[in-house]
Amino acid sequence: MHKPYGHPGAGHPGGRLDYDQAPFLVIWETTQACDLACKHCRAEAQPNRHPDELTSEEARRLLRDVRRFGPIIFVFSGGDCMKREDLVELVAYGKELGLRMAITPATTPLTSRSKLEELKAAGLARLAVSLDGSHPGIHDEFRRVAGSFEHGIRILRTSQEIGLSTQVNTVVARHNLDDFENLCSLMTELGIVFWEVFFLVPMGRAKPEDVASAAEFERVFHRLYELSKTAPFDIKATAAPQYARVVLQRKVAERRNGGRREASDVLTDGAGISLSDGIGRARSVNDGDGFMFVSHTGELFPSGFLPVSAGNLRRADLVDVYRHSPLFRTLRDKTQLKGKCAVCEYLPVCSGSRARAYATTGDYLEAEPFCAHVPVRYERMVANGEAEPVAEYFARRMTRHARTLPVHGAPSDPPAAA
Ligand code: SF4
Repeated sequence: MHKPYGHPGAGHPGGRLDYDQAPFLVIWETTQACDLACKHCRAEAQPNRHPDELTSEEARRLLRDVRRFGPIIFVFSGGDCMKREDLVELVAYGKELGLRMAITPATTPLTSRSKLEELKAAGLARLAVSLDGSHPGIHDEFRRVAGSFEHGIRILRTSQEIGLSTQVNTVVARHNLDDFENLCSLMTELGIVFWEVFFLVPMGRAKPEDVASAAEFERVFHRLYELSKTAPFDIKATAAPQYARVVLQRKVAERRNGGRREASDVLTDGAGISLSDGIGRARSVNDGDGFMFVSHTGELFPSGFLPVSAGNLRRADLVDVYRHSPLFRTLRDKTQLKGKCAVCEYLPVCSGSRARAYATTGDYLEAEPFCAHVPVRYERMVANGEAEPVAEYFARRMTRHARTLPVHGAPSDPPAAA
């Protein structure tokens, strides 16, 4: 398969990775059961466990299959993974196999100190909680359960007290754009090693009108880049590979202005903080390309936000599906991308969110509609009458429910401060 660029595994304790052979991480949606009812829930979680969830034995097989890729990262997600009684036992089993594991429990009383101590003793490396606002008003409204914010803070503090390394996940959407500066301040006070910022994909319970515009995404990218220079934690943008494009633009601009000397370290800079727990962070991971998501019933997806199944763990070989299924192979073949992403000069570090392209156009190979950048080559093609202007391009391709979204229009150049 043609691969137009290498995939450095910098930040991965195992060194360089070939994403044609193995993902950087696998996330398992342990259950869709959860006591929260978040407005944008990808899993459309509900209180009770599904009768067809993977059994404990099937989960052990999942862990063994994932270990065939190597000692990669495995995340127990949900729903709320605390709803599974076998969680501690499975973490211990994964540790025995040599996997490096993290969990993302819901911010509820179920994540108790005693449970955290058991998980730590079983071999858990990192814990991540979601905080979507800088104060309970915004967060609890989003999670639709009073007290969720305070539980998040309690879980972080307790985890740190018992020696677990900690991470915060935040969904960026219209509801918290005005609070983003406060969120940046809060993160610097929490003692975390990693801030994972998710850019909303309109699927599950998330509505198209909840998604911020391309211009608003762009502003957040620039703010994150500024924060990354001083933050005592690593930062990752999820479902937004175009953040890497912004980082590269900023570094190139800084080098031209006599600032930072290196522009080529875009994929490695700032990786040190979160490496200490063995989890680190990925470089150039995209849906199906360095990443695999296993649903609560064993469906093998390129991402939790791209619910197209390439097979089921119960009937197919997980390693074979990742390496050879047409879906995963196609997603890794950047020559198949369409529109402006296909001719973008930043393709080697970006390639757009395949999940958001799918959610808004029904085609996971389409151009990313929520990127403010117009590649130089695409501009030339438009000028020569070889391509449609970007706004027209997306207006014709976005599905009816997504067509009203302000997807494009912001300048892509870095601000003067760069
Ligand atoms: S046009 Fe596509 S590949 Fe280029 S920066 Fe935007 S999302 Fe990434």
